Amino acid sequence: MKCPFCGHPDSRVLESRSIEDMTAIRRRRECPECGKRFTTYERVEMSPILVVKKDGRREVFDRNKIRAGMIRACEKRPVSMETLEEAAAEVEARVRASGKNEVTSREIGELVMDKLREIDEVAYVRFASVYREFADLHRFTEEIERILREKGQTKGTGRDSHGSEEPGGPQTSND
Ligand SMILES: [Zn+2]
Repeated sequence: MKCPFCGHPDSRVLESRSIEDMTAIRRRRECPECGKRFTTYERVEMSPILVVKKDGRREVFDRNKIRAGMIRACEKRPVSMETLEEAAAEVEARVRASGKNEVTSREIGELVMDKLREIDEVAYVRFASVYREFADLHRFTEEIERILREKGQTKGTGRDSHGSEEPGGPQTSND
């Protein structure tokens, strides 16, 4: 890396450190010529992914929304924030690994359900029962909030069956 002060074509790396969730590397460098120090950042260049909603509208993929949906599904469940952070990161990684620059909200919902099924069954059922009906990221988080609010009032004993509908059940054909 060329020195920004004297233009010397090389510099020495003093320290490398991962920052921001391991998505960037910060390097402290020193110029062997003039002795000045400077910092460089190395990041993966992420192109934005668009989420195609049920009604055809598109919005930029946002991992925070995935995480928010998972947090709501896991409310009052023994699941750590760290687990949810990792799960959200993994969903994003899978979306990116597909190589597509557009994904449907439905595909994302399926990935989220896969992760929740591994993490916590109750959270998975909450998510799936709502999501299957409202294949839309915003609607389902609102809906989960509403369900949890109502559950909070009726002292949930785990699975309550006062409703008329079963959640549809996970389609585990090849489980
Ligand atoms: Zn220099």
